[in-house]
Amino acid sequence: MRDGTYDIAVLGAGIAGSAMAKAMASRGWNVALLDRSGFPKHKVCGEFLSPESLAILSKLGLIEEIAELGPRAIERIHIRLESGGAIELALPGKAFGISRFRLDEALHCAAARSGAVLMMHATVTALRREGEGFVVRYRVRGESTELRARVVVGAIGGGAGGAARRFPFMREDQGKENGRFVWPVSSAPGASAAAVGIKAHFAEDGRTRSNAVELYFFRGGYAGVNGIEEGKLNVAAFLEKEDIPRQRPDVKGMLEEACGRSEALARRLAGGKPLQGSMAAVSPVVVGARPEPWAGIPLIGDAIARIPPLCGDGMSMALRSAYLCAEHGDAFLRGEETMKEWQRLYTRAIESEFSAPLRWGRFVEYLLRDPGWSRLLPFMARVAPFAAKSLVRATRLKLYSD
Ligand SMILES: Cc1cc2nc3c(=O)[nH]c(=O)nc-3n(C[C@H](O)[C@H](O)[C@H](O)COP(=O)(O)OP(=O)(O)OC[C@H]3O[C@@H](n4cnc5c(N)ncnc54)[C@H](O)[C@@H]3O)c2cc1C
Repeated sequence: MRDGTYDIAVLGAGIAGSAMAKAMASRGWNVALLDRSGFPKHKVCGEFLSPESLAILSKLGLIEEIAELGPRAIERIHIRLESGGAIELALPGKAFGISRFRLDEALHCAAARSGAVLMMHATVTALRREGEGFVVRYRVRGESTELRARVVVGAIGGGAGGAARRFPFMREDQGKENGRFVWPVSSAPGASAAAVGIKAHFAEDGRTRSNAVELYFFRGGYAGVNGIEEGKLNVAAFLEKEDIPRQRPDVKGMLEEACGRSEALARRLAGGKPLQGSMAAVSPVVVGARPEPWAGIPLIGDAIARIPPLCGDGMSMALRSAYLCAEHGDAFLRGEETMKEWQRLYTRAIESEFSAPLRWGRFVEYLLRDPGWSRLLPFMARVAPFAAKSLVRATRLKLYSD
């Protein structure tokens, strides 16, 4: 950092923000990485790192440190539908099961080792343009402070309605402070909860150990189960708001509700109970219809749009957007690209890579959750396995191994 000014401030230190910070710090830029949370922490996620995610981690030079965390190798997908039918498919490559508790921490360490300055418990509350750069206002333990950066990247995760709502005051007639534009950063979007995501770790019974990611569908939601490091099992579930049990609206109550609606899930988790301290919940979980990669600043990860959780590809989109954004960010800071060119090229790349998986993701979610289709799909997958694989493939980013 020179004269209190960073080259780049990355808002949000989840998967996307940490990867962005690491990529930019590795190129020699002064990076500030801010997050309102403290880490390590348990986060709602299926903790399934898809083959696509692994390919991008490799390109970002991060695969060795993730492999050292002892992830579970995952090779297959098992789907249990509400109708009782089942579908089994091989994954297009090796995947990992690894907790966000370990993964996010490993990415932070990698970013810090490359020279990024990590600021945790720092809640970003506003952002304004000043001269050629930006001023980021953030709060630490109730005290407001500011930092300056030549560029700012938004990686604050998924909110209701996406980034346009979370960076809401982009119009010129709003948000002026002393004649300058101020964009309040909304961390808690006002929309009512549409769905809730939960997760918990279980100690895995060695006899049921598997190399598959398992998806269980039931009325009002679905659950993903897969092995992670240290012989543990991660269980993540997605429930519609009206299906949350009124008497027990906590993680254990919701897991019991899910098991009550899916015999197969109840059998899978029989005898186990959530490990102390591993439970987490998030709401609302709103999936995106189309990508919005720019809101006055570049956006990465879920801030662009959220793919349905059952696709298990949100982290690969977070990593891929960070990778693409870092290339343009680097070119801009070197003076090889203008901000307008960054916006145009980055928006075009995200739209061309993300639009189809987001659209197909919603379609596949509809098919798998619809009671009528859920009776037909196992039969169709048996007679036309190629079509089933193509449908799954359509929900995902390309495998970037080049
Ligand atoms: C139920 C469920 C299951 C899922 N399962 C999978 C799966 O198995 N595989 C997969 O690939 N994806 C999965 N996903 C999606 C995946 O979790 C996300 O795509 C991924 O976490 C996105 O990363 P991100 O960095 O964009 O956002 P996040 O990881 O959400 O990070 C955003 C960060 O921004 C911080 N932040 C927010 N506001 C502020 C602020 N004002 N100031 C400072 N910091 C702020 C937050 O604290 C957070 O750390 C699942 C999602 C859900 C809901």
